[in-house]
Amino acid sequence: MSNNENNPNNTENQGKFNYYWIYFIIMAAFVALMFVPMAGNTREITEQEFFQKYAPTQDVEHVAVVNKDYVEVFIKADKLAKADYSKVAKTKFGTPNQGPHYYFSIGSVDSFLDQMKPYQNQMRLTYETKGSWQGIFFNLVLPILLIGGIWVYIMRRMNGGVGGPGGQIFNIGKSKATLFEGESMAITFDHVAGLDEAKEEVREVVDFLKNPQKYTALGGKIPKGVLLIGPPGTGKTLLAKAMAGEAKVPFFSISGSDFVELFVGVGASRVRDLFKQAREKAPCIIFVDEIDAVGRARGKSMFQGNDERENTLNALLVEMDGFSSDKGVIILAATNRPDVLDSALLRPGRFDRQITIDQPDAVGREQIFRVHLAPIKIVDNLDIKRLAEQTPGFAGADIANVCNEAALIAARKGKTAVDMSDFQDAIDRVIGGLEKKNKIISPEEKRIIAYHEAGHAIMGWFLRYAHPLLKVSIIPRGVAALGYAQYIPSEQYLYTTEQLTDQMCMMLGGRVAEDIVFGRISTGAQNDLERITKMAYAMVSIYGMNDKVGNVSFYDLQNEYGFQKPYSEETGKIIDEEVRKIIDNAYIRTKKLLTEKRSELNLLAEELLKNEVLHKDDLVHLFGKRPFDEVLIDNATSKDSAA
Ligand code: ADP
Repeated sequence: MSNNENNPNNTENQGKFNYYWIYFIIMAAFVALMFVPMAGNTREITEQEFFQKYAPTQDVEHVAVVNKDYVEVFIKADKLAKADYSKVAKTKFGTPNQGPHYYFSIGSVDSFLDQMKPYQNQMRLTYETKGSWQGIFFNLVLPILLIGGIWVYIMRRMNGGVGGPGGQIFNIGKSKATLFEGESMAITFDHVAGLDEAKEEVREVVDFLKNPQKYTALGGKIPKGVLLIGPPGTGKTLLAKAMAGEAKVPFFSISGSDFVELFVGVGASRVRDLFKQAREKAPCIIFVDEIDAVGRARGKSMFQGNDERENTLNALLVEMDGFSSDKGVIILAATNRPDVLDSALLRPGRFDRQITIDQPDAVGREQIFRVHLAPIKIVDNLDIKRLAEQTPGFAGADIANVCNEAALIAARKGKTAVDMSDFQDAIDRVIGGLEKKNKIISPEEKRIIAYHEAGHAIMGWFLRYAHPLLKVSIIPRGVAALGYAQYIPSEQYLYTTEQLTDQMCMMLGGRVAEDIVFGRISTGAQNDLERITKMAYAMVSIYGMNDKVGNVSFYDLQNEYGFQKPYSEETGKIIDEEVRKIIDNAYIRTKKLLTEKRSELNLLAEELLKNEVLHKDDLVHLFGKRPFDEVLIDNATSKDSAA
């Protein structure tokens, strides 16, 4: 594994930590010693003092002119007992061969010798040059030892080697990729449900990794990079791992953001390190999750370009160019924003194969449920198809989450097998966070919420193109929602004007119900209004569904125009007017329908206040079969209007 520098298991190094302290204490002792002898067995006097006070006596045995710089004065051993000399004599650290002595600095040797003339016979005079071991030690060796010691100490610490959570200064340029190989690569295509087309596309790559000669012998070139495009949780990482598992090759996993660091040049060096490691392990797969973190188009930023990111991207491009896929290193990358990627990344020779992975449809969800239900003990008659139908818009990761939650809920209730009600609870939990029955809501508020949700439900029930209702609830969920009406969105990608306006009316149902019943409105409709507004703007300015604005689309995907709107002031005004008109008309239509259905609205709201949660079956019970349920099947041909 390459990322074991975080390993906190450093007991061995903690031992070393103590040695460092011993080292420093010894050094400190030396420094202290350096000062002690100076203070102890020598004493500084002046030249004048020497000639007045010491030279005339018979006590001096020897004067030494040292380095033509200063003079050392040695007193005769038998005179040292005298009171004045004893101050220097009684020191502990006196060096035996020198003994205690006085010293003084001299201006010039000649003038000193002149003055010495009268005394030359009574004392010995020598000339010395001193480079004492102490001098060398203190001036040269000690500083080197000290600085060296500190240097080694700091470096060890930074390297995370010495006990602490030290930085990774030395490892900063190393790639942070996690390597999976051998046993940990047990994931195969069987673990990936649905995604049949994607699996088919990558099967060739897997085959290549298994026996490259088969392809290269014919002169073919295998793609270097495969880009997996799709929303989060749809199984991109899973598919990449399964590829490695199928091909039985090592798998490097790294996230795009792992390359990015505060320091310039680090990202690029991490890229190089990653490729170096990969080459050593070839054949292998490198998986870069969220490649948009490094791969954003260069130089498009409104502000000054992000040099570090660009360097990293350049390094990636260079590395991809530099190695040949014949060596067996395949790069997989995942993103849900292919539109922001730098075009250089998508050029042939880089990520030349692109595979789109969509949110799973009902069939796909059923297959994913089956994969994740395999290890769970479920009741025999669990309707997996219904589970799939009830989880529109769920990605694979959400479904895995639901299965796990259901198992936990059943375990808490002491069941021996997980049944449908556990899954219902799990779905609810995943959708909206935990139920919060104890959230304090006044009875007055509760009435408003009940009518608001009933308004949505009634509109959904009696509007021809609205999504069929699944459940309506006034139990608060999560932080924001005080109640909700849940629908089964149809699995469709094209919407007609009628469908969009019916949906708008359904969303307006809450506010209009409050208006009709209480004669005043609340803030509870904010989220509805937001969605309606977006929808109306999209109809007018993106989908060309408005006569006045015409068949134009101002879809500004990459915000290429910056702050400037791609249309004139006048068009802008018309768009605003038309949006308002669409919403106003929807409001009128909603109000008309809800007023007609006032008794149904009351009935449903009161029922909600009693039961808090109502399902589709309950509504059938109250109102009879939903009027358009059969017609929906061929809604394209029929022309009745709903309201
Ligand atoms: P992505 O990389 O697209 O964000 P992941 O591959 O990390 O998503 O998916 C997260 C988890 O969701 C997986 O570990 C797996 O348990 C589950 N999952 C997602 N898609 C599928 C699928 N098609 N089949 C089975 N499990 C899936």
